[in-house]
Amino acid sequence: MNQIGNSQTGNNIYGKRLSGLRAKLRELNADAALITKRENYRYLSGFTGTFANLIITQDSAFLITDFRYVEQAAEQAKLFEIIQYTGKLEDTLNELLISQNVNILGFEESYLSFAEYSKYKLKFSVKELIPLGRAVEELRMVKDETEIDILRKAVQIADNAFTHILGYIKPGLTELEIAAEIEYFMKKQGAEGASFETIVASGVRSSMPHGVASEKKVEQGDVITMDFGAIYKGYCSDMTRTVFMGRPGKEMEKIYNIVLEAQLKSLEGAHKGLKGREIDHIARKIITDAGYGENFGHSLGHGVGLEIHEEPRFSPSSNQVIENGMAVTVEPGIYVAGLGGVRIEDLIIINGRNPIVLTKSPKELIVL
Ligand code: ZN
Ligand code: ZN
Repeated sequence: MNQIGNSQTGNNIYGKRLSGLRAKLRELNADAALITKRENYRYLSGFTGTFANLIITQDSAFLITDFRYVEQAAEQAKLFEIIQYTGKLEDTLNELLISQNVNILGFEESYLSFAEYSKYKLKFSVKELIPLGRAVEELRMVKDETEIDILRKAVQIADNAFTHILGYIKPGLTELEIAAEIEYFMKKQGAEGASFETIVASGVRSSMPHGVASEKKVEQGDVITMDFGAIYKGYCSDMTRTVFMGRPGKEMEKIYNIVLEAQLKSLEGAHKGLKGREIDHIARKIITDAGYGENFGHSLGHGVGLEIHEEPRFSPSSNQVIENGMAVTVEPGIYVAGLGGVRIEDLIIINGRNPIVLTKSPKELIVL
């Protein structure tokens, strides 16, 4: 039925991911999983199209899609039996559940709509529908070598865009023009798109941590915060640099150096075995001791992968134990309304006591 045993390396990766999910299903006492979230079905099957459902049991794996995607799914999801549905999706799913003797079906409670859940509860010939929790997200937290290589490339594209944009920025350009140039350059380097709406926040606008690019023109004397990333083979990168158009004033320079110290110290301290909140604390303590605790209103970092924000978090409340292979951002910031803000962000891979910093762009204070 499914082609487990195929020796291609790609299939080994997906075979491993399926085994991981099957172990979770056994823990949950579920006979099968219904996977509907796009990043999750992509992760488990390799299928990149916009619509598919997966049904995975201990010894079978099905990918259900419509006629647009049958050929692509057969090409990409080699470990899955591809099923095309033509009538109602719920009828096709139910037939499969009956044929596989599924009594307890796990579903992704955060991604199935209430309408779908109600319909499935009524229609499916299963005894129980149970939440899968974050079963697939937990598998996705720890990246394998293939994913790390892809992330490396996604980061490199953004790094190259940063080098390029330093030579492009000049007074009179709008933040939107700068953002457009970053995104255009990343696409020319092979990015499928931007990981999120590019942030270019200049002058007093830089005190907004998520100030997306506006029509404001960059002026002499501005601080400019740029936060952006590239999507490569489905994976997101994420970086921030803050640069100055002309020498910064005393307080902005002081703030820059505090953020930089907090960033470097948390990079060094992002060790396997610590909890997310312990790593967050490294930066928060430095910034608080310098008198800017109130001005660092967000978490230190977040996981990155097929989604721009995923597990784990470096946040004051995270008890997640950090493991090797996790891809996480380190991005402290200080924002002072009416003055401006500074944020510096790199993407790292947890590696024992020696985190691998994927982002290579310089971090010393840059004056354009
Ligand atoms: Zn960012
Ligand atoms: Zn980020």
